[in-house]
Amino acid sequence: MERRDFLKKSAAAGAALITQPQQVLGQLHDPNPKYRPVVISSANGLAATARAMELIQSGSDALDACIAGVNIVEDDPEDITVGLGGLPNEDGVVELDSCVMHGPTCRGAGVASLQNIKNPSKVAKVIMERTDHVLLVGQGALKFARMHGFEEMNLLTDRSRNEWLKWKENLSKEDDWLPPHTMEDKDIGDLLRGYARTYGTINCNGLDKDGNLSGVTTTSGLFFKIPGRVGDSPILGAGLFVDNAVGAAGSTGRGEANLLNCSSVMIVEYMRQGKSPEQACLLACQRIVDHTKEARLLNDDKKPKFDVKFYAINKRGDFGGAAIWSGMKFALNTGEPASVLKEGAYLFKRN
Ligand code: ASP
Repeated sequence: MERRDFLKKSAAAGAALITQPQQVLGQLHDPNPKYRPVVISSANGLAATARAMELIQSGSDALDACIAGVNIVEDDPEDITVGLGGLPNEDGVVELDSCVMHGPTCRGAGVASLQNIKNPSKVAKVIMERTDHVLLVGQGALKFARMHGFEEMNLLTDRSRNEWLKWKENLSKEDDWLPPHTMEDKDIGDLLRGYARTYGTINCNGLDKDGNLSGVTTTSGLFFKIPGRVGDSPILGAGLFVDNAVGAAGSTGRGEANLLNCSSVMIVEYMRQGKSPEQACLLACQRIVDHTKEARLLNDDKKPKFDVKFYAINKRGDFGGAAIWSGMKFALNTGEPASVLKEGAYLFKRN
């Protein structure tokens, strides 16, 4: 079945459920639930989900477990999309975004454009617990982190600095930045005219043994972004949303699309109406497709040039992931020592 057909069918099935919200909520509020812990993340989270599940199995709260999981990726200099070694902004400065949401206490917080601190997810949790605010950015966020004893360091690694230099030196042959060249070379700096700037991030959501849901998203954001650009990852409702009675959802990919569509909160609301996590993720993809009107963002066949990926779990421990384009995978752990990669659903098949 084509995904679009599937989507239509599942939307129809969902509409039937919307007419009986009490029944759906009744299922979600089962008085004697047996919770099946589950942790889901983006595909770069195999180690993160395994660690989070290990902690959940030993009694940890889902938020602490998920944060400990993504800290592995933030600390890994080889993941150039998160934390230490994340690709910098257009000035060569690493600016990190993250948010956390704790289901049982209905609290959450984000931190954006944070420099010099490799674990923005931990900073977001301290903002949640030790301030009356929900979002701190830039220099204020750095000062706050310093005051809470976070260690400052240079987040640029040789690898990420060299990637940035390559981009900078090959952006244009009209500027003064020159890539390595010979005496004979002409048109120096034209190599990356069609350079595709990509995205990367980790979102991780968990359901713990007490049936509590939480999530975290952390990223270095769009590669070589304009300094100060904030994506969806530190914004509650866009890059992450959790409702402890219903489910948790988060995202990776083009943050601007999620900011314009509040995708993560929408996925949770679709789940509240009775959609499965996968159906809810597909509906969020479809909403983005429907709302993308600018020609610069569309292929000739009017489908988006970009991708957005979603990861969701519900209170019953059901899970699912979906993206606009085929090929999406997510990491999953339902209680085993090793996590697995699963294929997500999609709207459009890549050629
Ligand atoms: N969503 C992130 C952002 O827009 C990037 C990503 O997930 O790849 O900053």
